[in-house]
Order: sequence, then structure tokens, then C-alpha cells
Amino acid sequence: MGSRNSGNPRICSHQIPDPLITDSGLYVVTLRLGRKKRIRIGKLGVIEFQPGCYLYVGSASKNLRKRIERHKRREKPLQWHIDYIRRHCRFIGVTLAGIDEGECSLAERVIRSVDGKIAYPRFGASDCNCAGHLIFSEEIKSWKETFLSI
Ligand SMILES: [Zn+2]
Repeated sequence: MGSRNSGNPRICSHQIPDPLITDSGLYVVTLRLGRKKRIRIGKLGVIEFQPGCYLYVGSASKNLRKRIERHKRREKPLQWHIDYIRRHCRFIGVTLAGIDEGECSLAERVIRSVDGKIAYPRFGASDCNCAGHLIFSEEIKSWKETFLSI
């Protein structure tokens, strides 16, 4: 993937009003797992997760606010892969983005930005063919700084 001059959503706190107005768009949820843990992730089975930061890339074509509120809640019916690990993690924050980029390419950019790696193949990627939408990074610098640079 080369760099593009246009079409890239700029992900930073100054851009937050846009997705909030349309109530739709891409987002990155950042979670932190305090210690190594084996967690059953739906049909993916039991996975051992290392302590560190987990960044989940998702999108909502509508009801973005409700979706984010749902990600914040620890207890809920387990529907998506991310719900299974969310229960064991601290919620660090969420970054919103415009919708003119696919989740998969945003995930690739997040990987580069935090010098991370796919946490587990196909995690959160049931509806597409990419490597996965959950990114692991042992330590991300400052949360804000990280997203300003994506
Ligand atoms: Zn994907």
C-alpha cells in the first residue's frame, strides 16, 4: 500500500465532531490487558493473550454513539469477538475516524502507527478477508500521541 494524498481520514481529536454528527464511521477502541490470560473467543476457541494494549478497528454505518457506548460496557451479551476480550480489559479510549476508508486498511495503518502486530489471525474479521482487526502492541506511548500520528 503506497501513501495517498487524499481520501485518508485524519484521525485525531480535532476531527471528532464529523463522525459524531453523522453518527457513523470507523473507530479504534483501545483496551489494556493487565496480565497474560487465556480467553475463549467464540468460535475462534481459547486464545492466550499477552499483557499489553489491544486496538480494535471497527465501523458502524449507523448508531456509532450507541456502538461506542456498548464497547465501553464490560458486561453484555457476547456477540462479537471483541466482546469476549473486553470483559478482561481496562477501557483506555476510542478514536473516531471518517468513513472514507475501509476497516481493513485502517487496521493496517494502526499496525504501522503503533508498531504492533495482528493479535490473532482473523480476529474481528469474520466479514472480510484481511489478517484481522485486533492489533496488539506491548506498550503504546501516549494514547493521544499515537492517534495523532496514524
Ligand atoms: Zn478486515
